[in-house]
Amino acid sequence: LLQDQQHLIPLPAETLDGHRFILRANLELIEELDLLKKFGAEGIGLFRTEVLFLMRGPLNVSEDYQLHVYRQIIERVKPEPTTFRLLDLGGDKMLPIAHREHNPFLGWRGLRVLLDRPELLLPQLRALLRASAHGPVRILVPMVTALDEYHRFLEILEKVKSELRARGEPFDETVPVGIMVEVPSVALMADLFAEEADFFSIGTNDLTQYTLAVDRGNDLVSQRYEALHPAVLRLVKHTIEAGHRHGIPVSLCGELAGDPQATPILAGMGLDEFSAAPPYLPEVKRVIRAMQFQEAQALAAQALQCRTASEVSALVNEWLQEHG
Ligand code: PEP
Ligand code: MG
Repeated sequence: LLQDQQHLIPLPAETLDGHRFILRANLELIEELDLLKKFGAEGIGLFRTEVLFLMRGPLNVSEDYQLHVYRQIIERVKPEPTTFRLLDLGGDKMLPIAHREHNPFLGWRGLRVLLDRPELLLPQLRALLRASAHGPVRILVPMVTALDEYHRFLEILEKVKSELRARGEPFDETVPVGIMVEVPSVALMADLFAEEADFFSIGTNDLTQYTLAVDRGNDLVSQRYEALHPAVLRLVKHTIEAGHRHGIPVSLCGELAGDPQATPILAGMGLDEFSAAPPYLPEVKRVIRAMQFQEAQALAAQALQCRTASEVSALVNEWLQEHG
């Protein structure tokens, strides 16, 4: 933590004219929980559960073990919420079963794997629901691509809930269920998804690669991987508006959320929550606290009209010099 950031930790992420944003942390290890207080995060906006499974092998992680881990996390983070993302396998993340695909990013990943592998999905849902009896939990569904798949997921969730009820296991009946918006089809259909989700979390890491057709892990095209590309920004804006029309909060948990260059644009678009690796949060907060909401709105409108990512970058850099 930089010396001149220390004073920001207890302060709210609020613009000069009083528009309040929520800053949450992206975590994947229980050992990282101390970072929440240290960097002033208001709960966890993305807990990636992959590491938990990686350490023991995905099929060796029992429901009770998960409950034990989730419960410890929730109890330390409450009264703030913990957003647990369901196992997001495939693509750049490890898979439960050795196999090969020519295009793993366009293949068997995220929700597709969960729907095909109930032995992974069901224990995790049961563990998360049971854990929700001990503090605020939000369930986040990864790599959603189609409404009918999301419906199948919701049916399974309802079944799991009725089983728990029948067993007399307590859980939070109103546990919010949200989706990752990280594929253009979902951003474009956000109005329909918003009717059936309790919150959105925009994953710009994947949304950028799928929108621009640029592999997020390929050095040959890393120059072309531009999260501030106007095409990506338009999808982000579209998602935020659809969420708000349906009264649900919209978070962003891709790396863009921790990039101060993106902060005024995302804030100006009306994003509700930023979720990033904790060390990035104080600088994001500093930028928010130095600006007027209306000025950020005007900047965001201009950014959406830019033709290239470099234009957006130049625009925002100039803006930050005036408003930093
Ligand atoms: C994203 O895609 O932006 C995201 C937050 O998920 P991950 O980086 O884990 O794929
Ligand atoms: Mg992703």
